Amino acid sequence: MNGAEMMALAEELYPLCRSITGDGVRETLRTLGRWNPVEIVEVPTGSPACDWVVPREWNLREAWVKSSSGEKVVDLADSTLHVVGYSVPVHEKLSRAELDAHLHSIPEHPSWIPWRNSYYEEGWGFCLPHAQRAALPDEEYEVYIDASLEDGHLSYGELFLPGRRDEELLVSVHVCHPSLANDNLSGIAVSTAVASMLAGRDRTLGVRFLYVPGTIGSLAWLERNRERTGRVVGGLTLTCLGDAAGLTYKRSFAGDADVDRVAKAVLADRAAQGLGESELIDFYPYGYDERQYNAPAFRMPVGSLMRSRHGRFDEYHSSADDLSLLSVERLEEARDVVLEILGRLDRNRRYRSLAPEGEPQLGRRGIYRALGGGGDPAALQYAMLWLLQCGDGSHSLLDVAERSEMPFGQIADAADLLEEHALIDRS
Ligand code: ZN
Repeated sequence: MNGAEMMALAEELYPLCRSITGDGVRETLRTLGRWNPVEIVEVPTGSPACDWVVPREWNLREAWVKSSSGEKVVDLADSTLHVVGYSVPVHEKLSRAELDAHLHSIPEHPSWIPWRNSYYEEGWGFCLPHAQRAALPDEEYEVYIDASLEDGHLSYGELFLPGRRDEELLVSVHVCHPSLANDNLSGIAVSTAVASMLAGRDRTLGVRFLYVPGTIGSLAWLERNRERTGRVVGGLTLTCLGDAAGLTYKRSFAGDADVDRVAKAVLADRAAQGLGESELIDFYPYGYDERQYNAPAFRMPVGSLMRSRHGRFDEYHSSADDLSLLSVERLEEARDVVLEILGRLDRNRRYRSLAPEGEPQLGRRGIYRALGGGGDPAALQYAMLWLLQCGDGSHSLLDVAERSEMPFGQIADAADLLEEHALIDRS
């Protein structure tokens, strides 16, 4: 799936009215189903989700504010951001002052529409550009929100690509934002591309893709999949991957998990090749669903890959976070970095030497002839010596790459060769 296809997917999903529940999420998941066989899981209202409870399902059909002349001055049809998420139905006439108590705008950016929600507190409201709000004349207004807030379901998407072993990797994105491009659609597009490119490939570790409404969706998944959490050996949440900032990796709670070390090395390699600088930041308990996966009961080693950080770009959670923030090249770069991180985690393994009593005699085993097959024979030989030296069963390929300061790919290639010649084995 190339950058143009990722961009086309984001454009197709952009107008849908998503929230933490409802038909917008279902339609989004069904659209992803055209690329990958994403299973849609429906969790009933009232179901436990760790310490939370799945809320009532919200669906929004029509909403507007009319002036006394009957003109629609705010209309859902113009932007999904115009209505506060989880607004209860309303149809009444109000004075300008009464209406204003239900309006939201951003004074510093008077032409942008903010995105607001009232998931867990009953109410209603409209969001609009501050300039428009300030210019509303003092007259009577008619407000109408045709929404339902009823027992139903929370929907999330799940896709599992099996590997040869029970352990698995996790890629999780949130799917609850309406017409917001960088914070939400970029992550969905990159995850979809990664899944489509990994499908059908031979791999050691399974890869699980989750498309969940933020917080409540990952908690609902955790509630129903406690026994799986221990199998996850590494993972990423993906968010804000289309804007112009460099890549940022947020470490897992552990801070030194394999995924943290691999992400650091992948980003350092890119910088060394002149492909752009990036930033590594420590875990903090704010952001996206990595907070839930890293909770004390689960401690899944899940980091987060992004460009601009949560809440740290001007357009965040406003109508200015539109499709113009995304670029084909940046989506592709993010896709490639995710594939590289997952690929190295898949190749990584603990191993032990099967000839641990000093340096084994490589010539006798035909390895020197095999070295002529390509790559840099001297480097491959040196990598093999490092592997054999470290092969007491307590080291992984990642450990050897770090200690030898050699590229992970070279260490992994050398390990494959040693395994073929029965000199090392998985420990
Ligand atoms: Zn957000």
